[in-house]
Amino acid sequence: MPKTATKHKVTVEEAMEDLRQATIKSTGSPGVSAEAQRAVEQLNELYTENKEAFTAEDVRFANVLRGMLGNRLAAHAPKATHTKKAKRKGDKLDHCWRCKTPVDERFCDNCPTCSEKAYQWRVCPVCNACGCQRAGTVLI
Ligand SMILES: [Zn+2]
Ligand SMILES: [Zn+2]
Repeated sequence: MPKTATKHKVTVEEAMEDLRQATIKSTGSPGVSAEAQRAVEQLNELYTENKEAFTAEDVRFANVLRGMLGNRLAAHAPKATHTKKAKRKGDKLDHCWRCKTPVDERFCDNCPTCSEKAYQWRVCPVCNACGCQRAGTVLI
């Protein structure tokens, strides 16, 4: 297809499909990570522009895919042992709510956007989940 001056506006369905395809391919190859990153950015942009274009099922499914994608890409990395971190005051889970990775020493970033004095949200190193997605301020 010839490139036109106006950028093709992707629909939610197309963007969801891009993420689904990247997630499928991520099992076989770590090389898909750039494509996956684009799919994630694309969906987050669409979500920022118009949250209403996403059904509750879209949001749920996009997060399932994003969690799977994180796990699959991480599985290509060399095996390493991790040290589990103890639950902090206020932690409801001892694992990432989205990709289920147990909270270990890699969970060292707190999200400045959704953290409060009373509770600091950790950012998952595997799928990048934090309280932002939980609160619906960011899609995935
Ligand atoms: Zn995660
Ligand atoms: Zn956050």
